[in-house]
Amino acid sequence: MKSLAKITHLDQLTFDNRFIGELPADEEPLNTRRQVFGACYSKVLPTQVAKPHCVAYSYEVADLLDLSDEVCVSNDFTQVFAGNRLANGMESYATCYGGHQFGNWAGQLGDGRAINLGEVINQRSERWTLQLKGAGATPYSRNSDGLAVLRSSVREFLCSEAMYHLGVPTTRALSLTLTGETVVRDMFYDGNPRAELGAVVCRVAPSFTRFGSFQILTARSDTSLLKTLADYTIRTDFPELGEPSTAVYTQWFSEICRRTAEMIVHWQRVGFVHGVMNTDNMSILGLTIDYGPYGWLENYDPNWTPNTTDADIKRYRFGRQPAMAYWNLVQLANALYPLIERVEPLKAGLAVYNDTFEQGWQTMIAAKLGLTVFDETLCSELLALLPLVETDMTIFFRQIALIDSNLELAQSVDHAIEQLADAYYLPEQLTADYRERLNHWLSAYIQTLKQQAVPNEVRREAMNAVNPKYVLRNYLAQLAIDDAEQGNFAKIHELLELLRHPYHEQTDKQQFAAKRPDWARQRAGCSMLSCSS
Ligand code: AMP
Ligand code: MG
Repeated sequence: MKSLAKITHLDQLTFDNRFIGELPADEEPLNTRRQVFGACYSKVLPTQVAKPHCVAYSYEVADLLDLSDEVCVSNDFTQVFAGNRLANGMESYATCYGGHQFGNWAGQLGDGRAINLGEVINQRSERWTLQLKGAGATPYSRNSDGLAVLRSSVREFLCSEAMYHLGVPTTRALSLTLTGETVVRDMFYDGNPRAELGAVVCRVAPSFTRFGSFQILTARSDTSLLKTLADYTIRTDFPELGEPSTAVYTQWFSEICRRTAEMIVHWQRVGFVHGVMNTDNMSILGLTIDYGPYGWLENYDPNWTPNTTDADIKRYRFGRQPAMAYWNLVQLANALYPLIERVEPLKAGLAVYNDTFEQGWQTMIAAKLGLTVFDETLCSELLALLPLVETDMTIFFRQIALIDSNLELAQSVDHAIEQLADAYYLPEQLTADYRERLNHWLSAYIQTLKQQAVPNEVRREAMNAVNPKYVLRNYLAQLAIDDAEQGNFAKIHELLELLRHPYHEQTDKQQFAAKRPDWARQRAGCSMLSCSS
């Protein structure tokens, strides 16, 4: 491809701002908290901040915007992506949406601490919406301040990029900027507020429209605006479906179901737990969106959620994510019903979710085990075994790729057990009964591998391409945050670089592939997070 000239000043970006150009605006100009009817967005300016400092940026995302390195290290970049200046063509706004929170309809939510800067059209004619998270109050801020703290911003910045490099559909993060101001937060809502460093992340995605963007309109019986937003979304983000019509609405819903299923298969593959799968946190594009109290499985436990706000019911625990995505799609189907007015096509869309997920999950789990065809018995027995003793998911799947299927069966099983030793947190849990069951499973698995007759090296390479060596372990993010709060950002840069190549052995970075250390088992931020951010 022809190499394209990079932009040397942010004022050279091309914005088309179609969202606000084509959709109706809130007529009230004042930035006061309120219900907004008959509009998709409110114009609002980011809040000025005292002393912004750009902590990190992603050059891959800068590249999507055609930005040169020179721009990214400039003071102007820091000012613009902290919200202190609008570059030429930026028109800032917050969008209106609603949502079901933890199963209950919550009414209007909206961009309470996100301010969109407009949509860039890059030199490849791609559309990228820029959005500042934590840049101050909007009409949708309800009883909060519209700000974000460093700890949650580090987590969003690193995880968006880590997910992208893992091959998981996600919104991206361009920059992480300290505001130079403090924000008071009660991290565990337990009466212990403290002043934390304020920060802003610039997020980037083709669109930030959510299931809740449609739900709010149907909840208010505003079918006319529902149709306007649906037509806009189809024309802008799903042009391959053709001009909107009843048939196209149906296809569109199926496509959202398909993409959502694919995203969830990826989450289950890498051990990602979103933590707050409310319908306002579900992207209409099937992207992972709104990184809050998310976490990564350390020991494989389908019942785990990092979110202390959800500790009792565990609605959004790892093993429940597929069912919760389906539940959310049912809510979206209800929201789109006025456009289609028939239940059958919506049911067909939901069936696409189930089929895509089931098929995708089987293919995924087979690939994680290097099986050329899915084997129900082998897979379900393994997934029953893993949670019985604390087994590190990421290490287990990397190590099991080392099996030598050329050895005699008994030797191969012994060798496998040696390889897997490092995956266990509490070796004393490996009772004689457990070992026997594991041996039995390994024998069956290795026999299958022998029948497949795929050379060790070939199988290993294929497995390592779907089983990451490095993920953003909860404690690694927390260590980077601890340092960042003291003004040292080296670990943020180190993790960003490490996670660019999650599937590659990085010989000098083995420590980042290690199991969660014991101190992190119960530490806040490592295994327990809340929605406070
Ligand atoms: P979340 O659980 O982060 O997806 O947020 C749910 C809703 O609360 C969304 O409408 C957010 O915009 C809003 N919200 C979260 N944190 C803040 C904050 N600090 N200030 C204003 N609104 C917020
Ligand atoms: Mg949200």
